[in-house]
Amino acid sequence: MAVIRDVMPAFELLQPSSVADAQHLLARYGSDGWVLAGGLDSFDWLKDRIKKPKAVIDLSGIHELKGIRSTADGIEIGAMTTLTEVAQNPVIKQKYSLLSQSAELVASPQIRNQGTIGGNVSQDTRCWYYRGGWPCYRAGGNICYADTPVARNREHAILEAERCVAVNPSDTAPALIALDAKFVIRTAKGERVVDAEGYYVAPDRDITRLTILQAGDLLTAIRIPSAWAGAEFYFEKVRDRNVWDFPLLNVASAMFTSGNTIDKIRIAVNAAAARPLRLKKVEDAVRGKQRSAETGEIAGKLSVQGAVPLQFNAYKIPLMRNLVKRSITGVANGGQEAAWAS
Ligand SMILES: Cc1cc2nc3c(=O)[nH]c(=O)nc-3n(C[C@H](O)[C@H](O)[C@H](O)COP(=O)(O)OP(=O)(O)OC[C@H]3O[C@@H](n4cnc5c(N)ncnc54)[C@H](O)[C@@H]3O)c2cc1C
Repeated sequence: MAVIRDVMPAFELLQPSSVADAQHLLARYGSDGWVLAGGLDSFDWLKDRIKKPKAVIDLSGIHELKGIRSTADGIEIGAMTTLTEVAQNPVIKQKYSLLSQSAELVASPQIRNQGTIGGNVSQDTRCWYYRGGWPCYRAGGNICYADTPVARNREHAILEAERCVAVNPSDTAPALIALDAKFVIRTAKGERVVDAEGYYVAPDRDITRLTILQAGDLLTAIRIPSAWAGAEFYFEKVRDRNVWDFPLLNVASAMFTSGNTIDKIRIAVNAAAARPLRLKKVEDAVRGKQRSAETGEIAGKLSVQGAVPLQFNAYKIPLMRNLVKRSITGVANGGQEAAWAS
């Protein structure tokens, strides 16, 4: 399919200066409106002429969506706060370093300077076929081009693939799930606060979107409760090029221990399915156990139960098993080779 990358199709550019104005504009345009944050995902869609909104609502002039604030129970991060600010904020680094580590590993410094936390958690999948404008299930068609014997599917899903095998590529999403973050959404009916894991949808629920956002909805902030402040954290991302690249797989865990016993734990992975997965069964299996290689082994095996590889992504099964194991044992990144080992 020909892709034209010269100029974007014409649209009306609207630059509100308050959330209320942005909502008003979004309501006016409905599904013909497009929310623009840092533009790193948005501009690809627009330049490739795959998405053709009538109006683009640019959030960059809305001051109330920017910045990191301390609250009575943790912190609140405005959706338009850049990934660089998230990675470098002293409070996040001190108390919630899982998030700063994950943000620091997103792409390159330039992308982190421009990309926002709201855009990072809301970005679309990078499946080649879907992004190339192929009429797949996710685009409203009746086939998955990535799930055929000759497809390029090295990066695709091993879990929860229901017709579509695309994955969610966000690095910060699993860290926010492990931190039990809450996402604040403004809808036409008012404010809605959802758990980070509840922000995402699997293809069996809605194959056309990765998040619960409907036309007109705005993610305004992300709240991190103090409950996991200062926990022992583990974040690891495996990617093709370490200078900058999307994750082939990542893992995030937060844990409190007494002596060597795991008291409280939350673990999530991303790039294994169309939504970041909280590994609740793994958490339940290791809680109360010694933090040992044996417990890590149990966790790793349990995490990949039910995984189904495609033609070229079977490597993701041992990779996920090993990353989950390390997220329990806390063994520092032993290098990519060790993580791939079967
Ligand atoms: C070359 C390259 C490499 C990358 N590598 C990585 C990587 O390794 N890891 C990683 O995690 N990410 C990676 N990214 C993604 C990047 O980090 C951005 O975070 C992401 O593309 C979107 O952020 P943005 O602020 O640019 O949002 P935009 O592109 O403007 O928006 C993304 C989507 O979210 C919607 N949206 C944005 N903000 C809101 C809001 N407040 N309310 C409602 N909807 C909203 C937009 O409508 C759009 O659909 C990469 C991107 C590029 C171009």
